[in-house]
Amino acid sequence: MRPPLGIAILLAPQTENCMSTTAEKHVFQAEVNEVLALVVNSLYSHREVFLRELISNAADAIDQLNFKSLTDHSLLGDDKELRIELIRDDKAGTLTIRDNGVGMTREELIGNLGTIARSGSKKLMQSLSAEQKKDITLIGQFGVGFYSAFLVADSVTVISRKAGSAETWVWESQAKGDFEVRTGERAGRGTDVILRLKDDAKDYLNEWPVREVIGKYSDYVRWPIRMEVERGGGDEKKQEWTTLNQARALWTKSKADVTDEQHHEFYKALSHDWAEPLAWTHFKVEGTHELTGLLYIPRKAPFDLVEKRKSGVKLFVKRVFIMDDAQEIVPEWLRFLRGVVDSEDLPLNVSREILQKDATTRFIKKQVVGKTLTLLEELAAEGETEREVDGEKQKSDRFLTFWTEFGRLLKEGVYHDIDARDRLAKLLRFRSTKDDGWHGLQSYVARMPADQKAIYYVAADSLATAKSSPHIEALGKRGCEVLLLTDAIDEWIVDALRKFDDKDFVSAAKGALDLPETDEQKQAKEAKAKELAPLTERMQKALDTQVKSVRVTDRLTDSPACLVSDEHGMSARQERVLREAGQDVPQQKRILELNADHAVVKKLTGLADDAEFADWAALLHDQALLAEGAMPADPAAFARRLTALMGKA
Ligand code: ADP
Repeated sequence: MRPPLGIAILLAPQTENCMSTTAEKHVFQAEVNEVLALVVNSLYSHREVFLRELISNAADAIDQLNFKSLTDHSLLGDDKELRIELIRDDKAGTLTIRDNGVGMTREELIGNLGTIARSGSKKLMQSLSAEQKKDITLIGQFGVGFYSAFLVADSVTVISRKAGSAETWVWESQAKGDFEVRTGERAGRGTDVILRLKDDAKDYLNEWPVREVIGKYSDYVRWPIRMEVERGGGDEKKQEWTTLNQARALWTKSKADVTDEQHHEFYKALSHDWAEPLAWTHFKVEGTHELTGLLYIPRKAPFDLVEKRKSGVKLFVKRVFIMDDAQEIVPEWLRFLRGVVDSEDLPLNVSREILQKDATTRFIKKQVVGKTLTLLEELAAEGETEREVDGEKQKSDRFLTFWTEFGRLLKEGVYHDIDARDRLAKLLRFRSTKDDGWHGLQSYVARMPADQKAIYYVAADSLATAKSSPHIEALGKRGCEVLLLTDAIDEWIVDALRKFDDKDFVSAAKGALDLPETDEQKQAKEAKAKELAPLTERMQKALDTQVKSVRVTDRLTDSPACLVSDEHGMSARQERVLREAGQDVPQQKRILELNADHAVVKKLTGLADDAEFADWAALLHDQALLAEGAMPADPAAFARRLTALMGKA
């Protein structure tokens, strides 16, 4: 079943673990009232979704029982027909959602219907602005699930008996700061969620509004949803049970028979997202292995995308639900996916241990990766299109939407998944010196001037620092586009790729840049290096403790100096990123490069006073650090030297 409650609710039970037959009161913590109020107020205009949420919980509970009964037949007992029932009681003004699924124990009732399941949820909720709290797609991320019951009910009673247990427990709340738990009676296993409908929600006591909502949201629910309805007229009038849904798993239908609308609703119920999915792939594989997959890409990344390692793909075997979050069949870097994989080959009693060893698992995983990559490639090829989103026509580039939300995970994929690396490389997008847009490597290579041999990049903490980095001055002048890498992991990604389309990735801040040059330019460069040899030697002595060497460069056009790393060494930024992550990385000395044509460098050549020369050298070194967004080792000394220099000017 899904991980317990996705909403930020903290509970402070007053009487934990006390098995009394009288009612125990449990107080919601202060935040809970706020969260409940928020759900009820913000989602008011979408309140019909309560039925989708509660039915989806009931279907999950039946899935769980069905799975458990594979190994323990006694759990089913005489109650073998798994189903969901909707019971309307006009007199009492209640609508009950009843399932004969797995049920809940006392502890599960208390825990599941109100604990913080996702660390960070509460913090996020507190950080949301009033405006953001109205944004249902943001609120949807909390997975309001069960709490949507309070959209239509002023009192909710849950009566549940866990499969295999003789005890029935009752949970009841008016969402007014507390809930009550007591023992109760129930004919067999399963759960009743009884909603005492608010006056303005009494419409749900009628057949047609209920049918309409089921048709819209829950037609594909795999278990029959039954309701007693009135048939015939006059003396012929009688009550009869009818099934409201098709009760056929959506993914088992042929692709052409599933409408976009159905996909949207299926996805929303499956993922508890409130927004429509960005895209999906529905595939069947036949041959030695048979499987069906229905995978969705959400429109928005969850707030804990980077830390949360779980995916949202459910594993089914021959239509029987087996497990949520089947990590064995979905690599971690595809954890943005939501959906279902249904295998014909795995045994019904499959466990995580079996999955880890079974060759079928590898086959399924390969299919999931392959089909997702194909979907992403199609999106990337699609460019900007016009389509309907939430009833409104919108022009958008779906791939760029994906990239801005989930691009980070594709980079993880490049790093970890060697088999997918080549296809992933084509999907990567970077900022570059060309313009403010996102650029793929294929288009970068297509734009390269004939004499440019490598793919150039520069890494910095911000786009502004990368753009004005001294390291890329000469590259820009020579018409070479430079990729601007600002994500902390970017340099490791290009290191992992090494090449794209047979062109090496070359850091503008490492090694001796092998710039495209004419013979004349080459000779001029060598002559300058010779001429400045006394200066570079003198500087090296002055900066001996800080730099590995000093040399003349053609990397710069406007700045006097810059610092570069060895061609194969770690960049200064990589070192910094690792240190910030708490790793112990020895500081490597770098090479100070001088721009022979710069007035300051020329002036240095003529400086006779050794102390003054040392100050200038230190200043030059420290400003090179500042220009790449780093800090001089001794900022106070830097400021002192600069002030002294200004005083003399
Ligand atoms: P979510 O379903 O997103 O986890 P909910 O608030 O809808 O969040 O439900 C919280 C948890 O309560 C579920 O994960 C499940 O463990 C339990 N639950 C809810 N409804 C039922 C039910 N009808 N039968 C058994 N367990 C249920």
